[in-house]
Amino acid sequence: MSGRLTVTCAIVVGLVAAGCQPAPQAPTWSLAADSPIKTTDAALVARIGRALDAAEHAGTDPSISQFHVRAATVVSAGGDEHVVVGGNTEYPWPQAVHGEVSVMNHVIARFGADAARRVPFIAFYAQSCGDSRGCGDCRDYLRATTEYEALMLVCGRATDHTIHIRKLTDGLLDEERFADATPASVGLPRDELDRLLAAASAARSGGVTLFSPPEGQIGAAALTSTGRIYRAAGADDAAFHYRYPVGGVLQQAATERDYFVRAVAVVGAGSEWPRVTYRDRQYGFETSTFATARGLPPTLLILANGQGALKATTFETALPHPFSVARFNPDAIERFLTRSGTSTPP
Ligand SMILES: [Zn+2]
Repeated sequence: MSGRLTVTCAIVVGLVAAGCQPAPQAPTWSLAADSPIKTTDAALVARIGRALDAAEHAGTDPSISQFHVRAATVVSAGGDEHVVVGGNTEYPWPQAVHGEVSVMNHVIARFGADAARRVPFIAFYAQSCGDSRGCGDCRDYLRATTEYEALMLVCGRATDHTIHIRKLTDGLLDEERFADATPASVGLPRDELDRLLAAASAARSGGVTLFSPPEGQIGAAALTSTGRIYRAAGADDAAFHYRYPVGGVLQQAATERDYFVRAVAVVGAGSEWPRVTYRDRQYGFETSTFATARGLPPTLLILANGQGALKATTFETALPHPFSVARFNPDAIERFLTRSGTSTPP
């Protein structure tokens, strides 16, 4: 444990050996000079340090990626502070329980959902600190389980024991903040835009809403570089393994090896803007990297409310500070596109 002086020496019954030397002291954690969030709160830094010392030893099972995500937080409950850890687990094809979901689930299991909402930070023990605010699904989960507006995502760099504090909200962008658009400004020929929006509207009437509110159902449609249009609606199920509409429509395009998607339209009902989960934005971002890897424009994300108003952005903008294979293993995209025979966009 860092910050605690330990002494190792031979202790024989009735005799303390002479010449005992203090063991090397683990370096304490300190705020990095270039931490995006600065703080002079020594108690907070110490609390983060306690979490990082525990996270270092958190169990993980990254059987596919071999990439360990070790996370921890400190929970105030019953007048005491408790360190809670979490670690990532992977299973085919490939799926994963991510470190931040793991730690928050452990907090809920030990101290309840109300205590979880008061968690001030999640600290990750890492060999290096990148810029990501986590995958889209973790953003959705943290929005649901924490007071996310104040939640700090902390990276503790093992090599120099420096603390880098970021805000989850840097990775969030509400639909209301997407740029307003008109049919002329979206960047698609009018006939293609009309076909795309009509397909998304038609998709909205389908899908499965056993447990999700029908009025929140959205429809999605994708326009690819071949000019084809695909459509999908969300579908829930008893296990709460929701099939996401944007993910669904992109999977349909990928099934036809139609990997270069020019635009995805999402249509809702009423005057509210349709909600695009961060998990769905993650799917869109990943698909957009296929296009940008080939020098094509990033995939557009177009929203239409029930009154015909439009907003337009890109998945890059809709998922700030992304977690993506394009950032940590771009060769994987190149290998995949080459192997799939789609190196040259139509
Ligand atoms: Zn995640």
